[in-house]
Amino acid sequence: ALCGPHFVEWVHKQTERFIEKYAMFTRDERVLVAVSGGKDSLALWDILLALGYRADGLYIGLGIDGGLNYSDESHRYVMDFIGKHGGNLTLHTVDVAEIYGASIPEAARLTRRGRDKPCSVCGLSKRHIMNRVARDHGYDVLATGHNLDDEAAVLFGNTLVWSMDYLARQGPVMPPSHPGLARKAKPLFRFYEREMAAYAVVRGIDYMYDECPHAIGATTIRYKELLNQLEVASPGIKLQFVLRFLKARQAHGLFAQVREQLELHTCPTCGQPTTNDGVCSFCRMWERVNARRGERML
Ligand code: SF4
Repeated sequence: ALCGPHFVEWVHKQTERFIEKYAMFTRDERVLVAVSGGKDSLALWDILLALGYRADGLYIGLGIDGGLNYSDESHRYVMDFIGKHGGNLTLHTVDVAEIYGASIPEAARLTRRGRDKPCSVCGLSKRHIMNRVARDHGYDVLATGHNLDDEAAVLFGNTLVWSMDYLARQGPVMPPSHPGLARKAKPLFRFYEREMAAYAVVRGIDYMYDECPHAIGATTIRYKELLNQLEVASPGIKLQFVLRFLKARQAHGLFAQVREQLELHTCPTCGQPTTNDGVCSFCRMWERVNARRGERML
């Protein structure tokens, strides 16, 4: 219902309101935005810069091709965004194959984790790298572009199987789970996906339109389709679902016990938190990948 300039103004005002309401971060803090080349993360970076936040970017090169040259193309969109902002933004780039010795699909093939779908290897690696870069470069906050559709689908999936650990940890802002780690924030969590697509179009942000080729058939996409059907029948249901969950959790202390009982240890190899009493899953996985690569070279 708004014209282009007023829509942009509305998105900016709303984002600012959410950042303040949920105490995500302040203008004095340094924010690291995880950018994938998709509309949500580039829109988030654009909004934070327009609002005057100290926001830098992090791009993780996963080495995914899938017939689309997916990772290289995604990187191109990120560089294009930086070019359109005058070229003087700070971007940290981590090429997984260069640093750890194998791309995400190769690592998945070399381990037993997801031979067909590399998503568990990918998720584990992205979480580790985001924490590491934020810690190594002294960022206060790690911001991601999750929108309402993402949040509702994840909440739906976690509720279906009563995944207490995940339900305890899902929210628009999460304090650091370990000393030295950055707080995590999702400033776009109350915007619909279509609103972010509209924002990108109005602001002239070119973005990677294709989904990751490994996302085809993902359960989250099925949940999104189901929730879209519910939204057509009951407009606003996604927002209610997410907001009422957050309200109920806060008002009734739901899952507080789960959070308290979650015992975290420090990985002796990388220093990041882990539920394992010893080396974390990320370090163990990459040790296995490199051992297998060594065996193949012999
Ligand atoms: Fe990684 Fe692609 Fe799976 Fe997403 S869909 S977790 S980017 S492999």
